[in-house]
Amino acid sequence: MFNKTKIVATVGPASNSKEVIKSLVLAGVDVFRLNFSHGTHAAHKAVIDLIHEVNDELDTHVGILADLQGPKIRLGEVENNSIELVAGKTINITTIPQVSTAEQLYITYAEFAHDVKPGNRVLIDDGKFELKVISTNGIDTVKAKVIYGGIVSSKKGTNLPDTHVTAPSLTPKDIEDLRFILKERVHWVALSFVRTADDIQRLRGMLQFENNHTTKIIAKIERPEAIENIDKIIEATDGIMVARGDLGVEVPLEKVPIMQKMIVNKCISAAKPVIIATQMMESMMINPSPTRAEVTDVANAILDGADALMLSGETATGIHPVRVIDTFRAIINEVEKNGDIYSKYDKGHGPNPKSPTFLSDDICYNACRISDDIGAKAITGMTVSGYTAFMLSSFRPKSDIFIFTTNDHYLNSFSLIWGVRAFHYTSFTTTDDTMNDIQQILREKGFLKSGDRMVITASMPLVEQGRTNTIKISVVD
Ligand code: PEP
Repeated sequence: MFNKTKIVATVGPASNSKEVIKSLVLAGVDVFRLNFSHGTHAAHKAVIDLIHEVNDELDTHVGILADLQGPKIRLGEVENNSIELVAGKTINITTIPQVSTAEQLYITYAEFAHDVKPGNRVLIDDGKFELKVISTNGIDTVKAKVIYGGIVSSKKGTNLPDTHVTAPSLTPKDIEDLRFILKERVHWVALSFVRTADDIQRLRGMLQFENNHTTKIIAKIERPEAIENIDKIIEATDGIMVARGDLGVEVPLEKVPIMQKMIVNKCISAAKPVIIATQMMESMMINPSPTRAEVTDVANAILDGADALMLSGETATGIHPVRVIDTFRAIINEVEKNGDIYSKYDKGHGPNPKSPTFLSDDICYNACRISDDIGAKAITGMTVSGYTAFMLSSFRPKSDIFIFTTNDHYLNSFSLIWGVRAFHYTSFTTTDDTMNDIQQILREKGFLKSGDRMVITASMPLVEQGRTNTIKISVVD
């Protein structure tokens, strides 16, 4: 028995050594996130190589998620790295590169003066500072009144929640980063500030152009337009991240908890993995233990049904990266033991009869039902495309899910999916032989013992590698 809810940890200066990466894997990290808002390609390559090295040494399949910056808007350098914005004062915001002063701020978004309208808010540093647009020349300069001021330092993130931002989701920097990423063995790519399903299609088009059919896509939900278009985005993507950092600035903060539940629910119905991100253990950046509110937030995300929980600064720059994972694990263990998170088929998440994959979806659904009914220790699937892994997981069976695949790359991709452990397997000969092999492998690895019940799903005939169409109940001999 292992944890079903997966842990994503961001790598940064506090964790980019082999020693810490290894300790984090041993503590329970399933996926490492590389944040392409920071760092050089050489630095990212060094970390990617270390993760592969640790995977080889520990015989683990920890995945790698490359998070593209997207059209993140920032201030440039500010005078002496500290200027004061005074509430009530009118200042200029310009798109002409320069060092910002208390009278004139430089913003990195070239289309800013074109896109904003009078009355739009400009939020700086996670919304700590607020300005309201008074007028724009439509070219390069905007007049804005400071509503909430204070001391601002260089390069702070800036959000335009009321503005229709016309910048493409894939910026020239993202395209350059993507070229680098596709040369490496990276399992998931996250696209920031997604607004429509077209943003995902564009990225998928680029992956296909590079003849890359294995790197899977995460859509980061952090813009109000993404909430409006959520159904189509979920349909187009392979997975979702509820990026609560920017989302909580772009939409009224009090709306985030209900949005989180709505998105998780839709992702479970669509069999797409969903990550809950940001400020989960924020106080552990410094403190050795979390706040009660953080523990409750983490537990609630698991109860909502998230596939994975993500740490950002806590493991990238915090003082206690490994301790944070230990704390996460303790909360996950407790909720998985006592929380009502299983058997989603009884909670409105049945297969959709209108889906073109309904027949195999229904097999997965019934396999999970049977597995829960008979108290199975394992439910197994074989997959070429990965589909069966996503589908079995979406019904949240109580038993562990073991996926056997010919595709080495997917062994690590599946590390993000709730409840799934994957194994490399190529010898698809006769159904009987393969089913016996699978049982044997799980026994040898200590996941099953004599007398345990298991549910095996398969596609018969195996050699055709079609969609899952078979369920078998087996008692381990
Ligand atoms: C977020 O905004 O919550 C997030 C995860 O994105 P980033 O860390 O890239 O700002």
